[in-house]
Amino acid sequence: NDAVSAEVLPEDRAFEAALRPKSLDELVGQDRVREQLALVLEAAVARGRTPDHVLLSGPPGLGKTTLAMIIAHQLSAPLRLTSGPAIQHAGDLAAILSGIGEGDVLFIDEIHRMSRPAEELLYMAMEDFRVDVVVGKGPGATAIPLEIPPFTVVGATTRAGLLPGPLRDRFGFTAQLDYYAAEDLYDIVRRSARLLDLSIDDDAAREIGSRSRGTPRIANRLLRRVRDYAEVRAGGHVDHGVARAALELYEVDDLGLDRLDRAVLDALCRSFGGGPVGISTLAVAVAEERETVEELAEPFLVRLGFLARTPRGRIATPAAWRHLGLTVPQDVAQ
Ligand code: ATP
Repeated sequence: NDAVSAEVLPEDRAFEAALRPKSLDELVGQDRVREQLALVLEAAVARGRTPDHVLLSGPPGLGKTTLAMIIAHQLSAPLRLTSGPAIQHAGDLAAILSGIGEGDVLFIDEIHRMSRPAEELLYMAMEDFRVDVVVGKGPGATAIPLEIPPFTVVGATTRAGLLPGPLRDRFGFTAQLDYYAAEDLYDIVRRSARLLDLSIDDDAAREIGSRSRGTPRIANRLLRRVRDYAEVRAGGHVDHGVARAALELYEVDDLGLDRLDRAVLDALCRSFGGGPVGISTLAVAVAEERETVEELAEPFLVRLGFLARTPRGRIATPAAWRHLGLTVPQDVAQ
């Protein structure tokens, strides 16, 4: 069940493109980032200069790509998209840089996954708008200087701390995106429904928003699943009952937990008495890879305060027992 995965799924792409806010005014929530960025961009436009390089950090699905597109739009500049994993050699980056035009916005997703030599080349380009491209190897190697017109890098990373200091320092503006409040997700669901021409009651939109794990990408995906359900089984209109029934069918519970999240909690409480238990043992108990449990289920369970990591292993909190409808054992209930 991938309904609540924050990673982009192939089925999301066209749909996401259609629902993407195109300007800062259309962006829902993230008020502080929106205001700060508006200032940075306006000041640059007024001065007729390219703005500072921008670093966007935050978990997947919160709008980093959207913001990069908005930045290019507000600057009326072309956007070039690439990603850290696509830049494994300094030469990959040199090729991109040699095609940059004046004022272009270069979006580098997952910028922390670039190779070290490419990283070094990038921060020289960001600072001096000039790099030396080394051609050949050994004693015969020559450095060819490459002038680059002023441009703006927009980097995206899940954690700014993953970037080496020298690269991080080249960004004049850093925006930390945070999970969205329930009210914002409610607005995002209503906005998306409007764009999709889908009729939806307010309490249904609220229900979808509150199960979206603070993540717009998940809100939009759940909305699409609910729309399918409404069209096939309920004549197209989404009321509260339809939303609930659809989400139940897709096994997304009141808090946005899916089957895997609940299986992990269930094993932790029922099979291991609430822990502590090692992550590998827990993964075997739910018949999943350790990485799947660690990357998909655990962060959200920790965020909800259902699971805690201790030096001796994972433990369930009283809230976890209660969420499963179980009695909190004496020794857990302090
Ligand atoms: P990833 O890093 O995983 O690519 P991302 O942070 O770049 O994720 P986006 O692709 O920008 O996320 O956003 C995912 C979807 O969520 C988009 O379809 C976009 O329409 C929607 N979205 C994101 N932020 C907002 C927002 N503030 N208001 C409305 N919709 C939003």
